[in-house]
Amino acid sequence: MTHPTIDDVVRAAHELWPLGLQEPWDASGLICGRGSRPVPAILFAVDAVAATAEEAVERGAGLLLTHHPLLLRGAKFLPDSSDKGAVIHKLIENRVGLLAAHTNADSAVGGVSDALIRACGVEDAEPLVDAGEPTGIGRVGELPEPLPLEELARRLSDVLLPTAGGLRVAGPRDGVVRRVAVCGGAGDSLFDAVRESRADVYVTADLRHHPASEARERALLQGGRPYLIDCSHFASEQLWLEAAAAELRGVLAARGFEVETMLSRLNTDPWDFVVRPEAHPGSASTDALAAEYPGQRG
Ligand SMILES: [Zn+2]
Repeated sequence: MTHPTIDDVVRAAHELWPLGLQEPWDASGLICGRGSRPVPAILFAVDAVAATAEEAVERGAGLLLTHHPLLLRGAKFLPDSSDKGAVIHKLIENRVGLLAAHTNADSAVGGVSDALIRACGVEDAEPLVDAGEPTGIGRVGELPEPLPLEELARRLSDVLLPTAGGLRVAGPRDGVVRRVAVCGGAGDSLFDAVRESRADVYVTADLRHHPASEARERALLQGGRPYLIDCSHFASEQLWLEAAAAELRGVLAARGFEVETMLSRLNTDPWDFVVRPEAHPGSASTDALAAEYPGQRG
């Protein structure tokens, strides 16, 4: 068996995660790399940053495949003294290509949101946007058994890579959830679709105060659901890398190519630690503080 070239990998990747599925503002695809260069190994990571570029070089990857595009907002200059330019120089000078599969991989079957909803315990899911279609952004489906909200959050916390911020949950700990909606990465633009889907809980990342607060206020008018689980953006998407690597290896193997796939060992969540209030002297827990200033929504 021979190694695929960068072009061979790109063709296989776009069969799994067709570029036609990406959002109009997105910039997925081959960012740099010589198409004819053979690729013995591919490193999968969420982010193309200095550390993952370095990792790709050190581990002998011929291609770094990331979820996030490096140049999403466009670039006019890429000197090595700039953050993005340093990544591009590191990769090109070491003959490593860079391929991004972003919203095309969010929408595709077996993509980022499929990995996230499976981690919640839902096997059969449909897109949250474009319900009934095979592909689309987000996913919604039913747990085999109803679960308390806190248990679902703990289940997720057990499978997500640990990050400083952990998970934040809005809703009662014992609130029963069965129908789960998810969107890997920042999902605060999908609240209308979440409400329409009649999900009991919405799992996503990067929820800011106003979208989250308004979603909870509206939910309270209808019995309190959907509850919210806010995870690390990085961790919610990192889940997909293993499945993506296996799928891509499979498509390439079917074409007679042999390639090693590796997952990044780095945590590229930008947050390093959190500081929590020490509620009362001698207590490491915030429960006492929570009792003093109870949530409005029990
Ligand atoms: Zn993302």
